[in-house]
Amino acid sequence: MKILIQNGDLVLPDGIKKGKLLIEDGKIAALGDSGFETGDAEVVDATGLLVSPGLIDLHSHLREPGFEYKETIATGTRAAAKGGFTSVCCMANTKPVNDTAAVTELIRLKAEREGVVRVYPIGAATKGLKGEELAEMGELKESGAVAVSDDGKSIADANRMRLALTYASHFGLPVVNHPEDLNLTNNGAMNEGYWSTVLGLSGITRAAEETIIARDCHLAALVNARLHVAHVSTAGGADIVRYYKAKGANITAETAPHYLYATDEWVDGYDTSTRVSPPLRTKDDAASLIAALKDGTIDCIATDHAPHHIDDKNLEYALASTGISGFETALGVCWTALVVPGHMKPEELLSCMTSAPAKLFSLPGGTLAVGEPADVALIDPSAEWVVDSSSFLSKGKNTPFNGKKLTGRVARTFVGGVCVYDGSV
Ligand SMILES: [Zn+2]
Repeated sequence: MKILIQNGDLVLPDGIKKGKLLIEDGKIAALGDSGFETGDAEVVDATGLLVSPGLIDLHSHLREPGFEYKETIATGTRAAAKGGFTSVCCMANTKPVNDTAAVTELIRLKAEREGVVRVYPIGAATKGLKGEELAEMGELKESGAVAVSDDGKSIADANRMRLALTYASHFGLPVVNHPEDLNLTNNGAMNEGYWSTVLGLSGITRAAEETIIARDCHLAALVNARLHVAHVSTAGGADIVRYYKAKGANITAETAPHYLYATDEWVDGYDTSTRVSPPLRTKDDAASLIAALKDGTIDCIATDHAPHHIDDKNLEYALASTGISGFETALGVCWTALVVPGHMKPEELLSCMTSAPAKLFSLPGGTLAVGEPADVALIDPSAEWVVDSSSFLSKGKNTPFNGKKLTGRVARTFVGGVCVYDGSV
């Protein structure tokens, strides 16, 4: 079983080079110009396409078990494949919460049977996401969890967070925080600033995010533990991460595509698909996040794919659930925000979505190296398309990008040499 991808531009660590890629028995067998046996391989013409390592997402919500009306592992992984993702990590705020080996194993088993991309569960840091008793992290790791997180909620008690960081470090597990001080959020609906005043919605100060980023970075440095800061959305948040990284703390960080492109101005019209946690910020924040990605302060881009049922969004703005269905627009949004205006080269953006996240959680993939599993995304860098959420494979149609024109689209996705998305839907 051989597949030859030819006439494409290979995305390699040292840049983009024309060449062929041969897949054999699910692995990358050869790449380059010549010197390999293609034999009776099935030929895929990649003229005009980038041949990239499959995208890797460190932060998503697949909603199963418990919230199958929002998303399932079957629908979520198909949406991921359509977005070019070949590996996704899923957060623990399911029902039951993923705070035991049994739930971690259930997710892995379901993913194997019903999913089309690789799924890596993230276990809860505290039992029931209650921020009190620590979860059995050793057991979670043994059953396949790649990190621990109470994402969706911040661990409010600073000493509990310190203990979680210390305990996780015994197992070599990164702790992913959800930086939000709920007292400061104070039931706010959107970013606090000009637009919250104009629209008459209660604001969320950026301090709600930044104080917890500072607290958690400080604690991680104190106990020498591995912290991954989730969905940085403010200029100040990036500055804090930069400061602690310079001091040598073992900290990494992500931002999400929507913070690089959408702003709080988009809330004008009260479209609840713009309601997300942390909230959409300003143009200046987006510019600072782009600078932080370029200087390595922010290590990677993760979708925070958070699909919701229409009933959770068809409410008055402040009551609507927070979250954006992100898999199917991530590449296009990032391409439009970063590559089209010239902030990043294609290979720089793709490294933030492939090799960088793989390294952060020690996941396989993120490379086209010979011998590695053939997790590959073919990307059309010049495709212009209009987002139509009704065509999403995700059950969650909640996106502020519906109707927007984006540049850059995934044409095909392979996982272990098997085509899991062929561009037809
Ligand atoms: Zn979160």
